[in-house]
Amino acid sequence: MIGIEFEEPKQEVCECCGNTTTRLTRFVYRDGDAFAVYYVLFTNGHEDKFAYSLIGLGDWGEGAEPEMRTAFAVNIWDDNDNWAVTVTDKAESPWSHVEFMGKILDREAALDHPWIKYVYQITDHIVAEDKPVMEFFA
Ligand SMILES: [Zn+2]
Repeated sequence: MIGIEFEEPKQEVCECCGNTTTRLTRFVYRDGDAFAVYYVLFTNGHEDKFAYSLIGLGDWGEGAEPEMRTAFAVNIWDDNDNWAVTVTDKAESPWSHVEFMGKILDREAALDHPWIKYVYQITDHIVAEDKPVMEFFA
């Protein structure tokens, strides 16, 4: 059983175009235990209509260090009314410099990783339950 804790979205002005950029931070629980944290970032009016996400899995217990976690960079997009999720390289992630979520894998390593199934499980929840993301693509 997966549950997501939704915080208020943070909005800022995009430096490249002046449109609104939305940033989300979500805490994911599985059977009541901290399971993952994910970030989402999207900007209205950009030509590439992506919701960028970084999903951090591993040890989120108290005192756990980022080295005990692994992070996956994904782009969520709308492929002719079907949700599409593309795993990307670390360098393509807006959070490539962020260490808090764990070591960010490149695409090939991410797709080979045993936790990739959890990544897709979480993105399934994002597109079904995370309202700002759903509204961005609506
Ligand atoms: Zn922009």
